[in-house]
This record gives sequence, C-alpha cells and structure tokens, in this order.
Amino acid sequence: MDGGTDSKSLKHFIAGQWVDAAAGAMFEVFNPLDDSHYAFAAKGTTEDIFNAVAAAKAAFTSYKETTPTERERWLLRVAEIMEARQKDLVNCLIDEIGSPVQKAMFEFTKGLTMIRAAAGLCRNVRGETIPSDRPGTFSMSIREPLGVVAVITPFNVPLIKTTRLVANALAVGNTVVHLPSEMAPHLSLIFAEIVEEAGIPDGVYNVVTGMGAEIGDDLTGHKDIDFLTFTGSTLVGQHINEICAKNKTPNTLELGGKSPTIILADADLDNVMLLAARSVFMFAGQACIASSRFYVERPLYDEFVKRFSMIIRKLGMGDLRDPNTVIAPIISPRQRERIKSHIDDARAKGANVIGGEWEGNRCQPTLLTEVSEDMTVCQTETFGPVTAIYPIENYEEGLEKANDTEYGLSSAIFTKDIDKAFHFVRNSKAGMCHINGPTIHDEAHVPFGGNGESGVGREGTDADMEAMTELKWVTVQL
Ligand code: NAD
Repeated sequence: MDGGTDSKSLKHFIAGQWVDAAAGAMFEVFNPLDDSHYAFAAKGTTEDIFNAVAAAKAAFTSYKETTPTERERWLLRVAEIMEARQKDLVNCLIDEIGSPVQKAMFEFTKGLTMIRAAAGLCRNVRGETIPSDRPGTFSMSIREPLGVVAVITPFNVPLIKTTRLVANALAVGNTVVHLPSEMAPHLSLIFAEIVEEAGIPDGVYNVVTGMGAEIGDDLTGHKDIDFLTFTGSTLVGQHINEICAKNKTPNTLELGGKSPTIILADADLDNVMLLAARSVFMFAGQACIASSRFYVERPLYDEFVKRFSMIIRKLGMGDLRDPNTVIAPIISPRQRERIKSHIDDARAKGANVIGGEWEGNRCQPTLLTEVSEDMTVCQTETFGPVTAIYPIENYEEGLEKANDTEYGLSSAIFTKDIDKAFHFVRNSKAGMCHINGPTIHDEAHVPFGGNGESGVGREGTDADMEAMTELKWVTVQL
C-alpha cells in the first residue's frame, strides 16, 4: 500500500496506483468548522477521468469472471479492515466535513452494514426459468454485470454513499470509477486504501478527485460508462439526466428533498418530539431526508411548537468530538449564504423565526412558524438546520400540503389511526413513507429513493442488483 492519503496531499487512485493529477494541479480542502486547511487533493482533468475509465474497462474483462465466493471474501475483508481503521474514518468524517462524532459513528456503523449486505448480494445475482411455448425448449434469464459504473457522491454522507454504491456495484461484478465530492475527497481515498489492502484487483475501483462542475461531464458523457449512479442536488442531477438520456446511459439519481411529517391530534407527543428533532437536526439538517416541513393538527399545534422550541435549545453545539454535540458546521460559504438567505427571506415576509442565529460556521437550530407560500423556504430545499411548522385542520389538509411539492423523497405520519396511516402510505407522493417514525431512516437492503425532483430509481442491495445488471434471455433446444 502506497498510502496515497498519508501526507494529506491526496492523490487519485487509478489502476491500483496512487497518482498525481495528469496536469499536476491540486485544490485545497477546508475544515468547515473554521475554514482551516484540511488537505490538498489532486485536481483531476479530462485525462484523469479517461485514464480511470480505461482502467475500469480493462479490469472488467477479468473481474466479471470472478466467483461469488471471491467477491464475497473481498468485501468481507473490506469490512474487517474498515473496522480496524474506524479511527481514521471517523476522524476524517469529523475534520473533513464537520460531522459531530455521533453522526460520524452512525455513518461508520451504517457503512459497515452496507459492505456486509453487499457481500451477501454476491450470491444473489439470479435470473429465473421461464416457461416456453416452443416444445422441447428450456428457457431462462440470466443476469450479467453491465461493465463500468460511474459513482458520483455528495459531501454529506460520503461513507454511507461510497460503501453502499461501490460495494453493490462490485458485488454484482461491475468495476467502478468514483468521483467523490470535492468537499469530501479524503474519505473516499481512505476507502480506496482499504479496497487496495483487501486485495481487490487493480482497476476494479478507481477514484478521481476534482471539481465536479469541471470534470463531471467527462465522466457522465464517457462512451465507456455503462451505468451511472449520482447522489447530489436536483440541479446537477437534471443536468446529468440530460446527458445520460442523450447517450442512453442507464442511471439512478438520488436528489434533494423537502420531506414532510404530519402529526395528527391523536399522536403521543412524548414519543414524537425527540424523533422530530432527530429528523431535522442530525448533521444540522444536511441530510436529503431531513424533515423540513411539519404539519401539526390544530389541537396539538401550540404544544408542539412550545416543546420543539425547548428541545432545540438543548441540542449540543460544542466540540465535534463530544458525543452530546448534534449541531454541525455548515459545509461551505455558498451553503451558509443559502441558509441565511432562506431565513432572512422568511423573516422579511412575516415568518416567526425561533433560533436562526449563527455561532461561527454553525447555524442554531431554527424553527419557522407563520410560513406562507411566497417564502423560498416553503418550496425549496434549504439543506440546513431549518424547518417550518404549519397548523392543519385535519388529516386531509395535511396530505394535500405534504404532496404540494415538486420533491418526493421521504415522508412520515404520526397517528394511532391505522386507516389514516395507510391512506397516507397509499397517497403520499414520496418514495419512502414512515408511520410513527422519522423521515430519516435508511437500511442497506431497502428500496431507498424518491420521485419527481427527488430522483429516479432506487438504491439498496436488491434495487442496485437489478439496476446494475442486465437480464439476458437464454434458450436451449433439447
Ligand atoms: P452537489 O450536487 O453540489 O454535488 C454532488 C456531486 O456532484 C459532487 O461529487 C460534485 O462534485 C458532483 N458534480 C457537480 N457538478 C457536476 C457535474 N456537472 N457533473 C457531474 N458531477 C457533478 O451536491 P452536494 O452539495 O454535494 O450534496 C447535497 C445535495 O445532495 C442535497 O441536495 C441533498 O438533498 C442531496 N442528497 C441526496 C441524497 C439522496 O439519497 N436522495 C443523499 C444525500 C444528499
């Protein structure tokens, strides 16, 4: 192992080699807590992307012939090494993207689960036998890997996204070119060191770091990309979708959200409050499935606002290595400006703002009431520790308002009324629906994903197995 990340002068990982950017340039990565220097990373160009795709394409020829046992063993070895390198991964999540240690540990544990679930997937790449109308014919479908999978990941949950998407792609026999967020390159490079140490063959997993806006199209539009999975903002997702449509590149897009939670009058607020807080403020709301809209039935509304206002004052904003700290710094100056502008806009248009002050790069947990439709925050993803609370007269109004959005990622309802709960499940536009649980919920094997502006397709072991392989029909004339 060359240890391409040791000196915090980060290199690409291409064809099993730690290499500088072809053009020799670097870019700086900052610790979002105080904008101090974190690392320099190789600034990829078209040439680096092309080299990585060529390496992945070359590696596919032999990797696709590997047995389930081999791939399972490699992935389980990745999990073992991840456990041994827990400290490095958790420290990176804290210092590179500002994760409080409780979020970093959550992500680490989830990441391990993703790898182990993917190891189990290796043996489940299955086709089926099909009855045939032709006498004496044995007819079946088999699943084959697609080839080179491009994986583009965001800054906010880099370990969960890397482990899930890379491991699922590798489990079913594909090779990968990974473009991680320019705000979280180190995390993926530590993962590359782990893959290397696990003995996964050269070229099967490749990482190119750099500015997505500059080199993303080189990857998305590359003729040798057989599948693309993108997680990030809706704006970039739309752009990628257009290129993929033109090139007929199959893809999944996991994009932004404006996830609603409905709380009906029969809900038990003692149970709801902590879950509600968790569903917004984990990692300071920098979660695609964060609940940024609460619709509370009138009889509970005042009490809900009162209790929520008290809870947010207690959410820890201290040292990121203190397990009681919940509130993270906001990742970048651009994102801080976005959050400020959403709060200012709401305030100027008459919203009541509870919280909303800043301490350094951290924004206090913020509740907005008296929110009207002309406010930006009403319809647009803020991606910060900000949520709006709306009173509703009944369930029907809650459903209508919950669905009144272009997004459709996660949704939740708190009630004891099973009929209304299941009516919500059937009629929510969101791709994921939780009864008496928070909108923030993910597991390795579930169909995770959204509709509308929140994306296309689902991810998770089964969904990725289907998306990242193709069915081939085979007959045998006996
Ligand atoms: P982003 O869209 O700015 O960046 C995501 C990735 O896309 C990065 O790797 C970036 O380098 C790359 N990129 C940028 N321009 C590109 C281009 N033209 N072509 C290809 N790649 C390009 O998103 P972000 O700020 O890193 O993450 C936050 C967003 O991600 C939020 O909108 C959030 O809701 C969403 N998100 C969604 C999910 C989900 O599963 N639905 C999960 C996490 C985050």
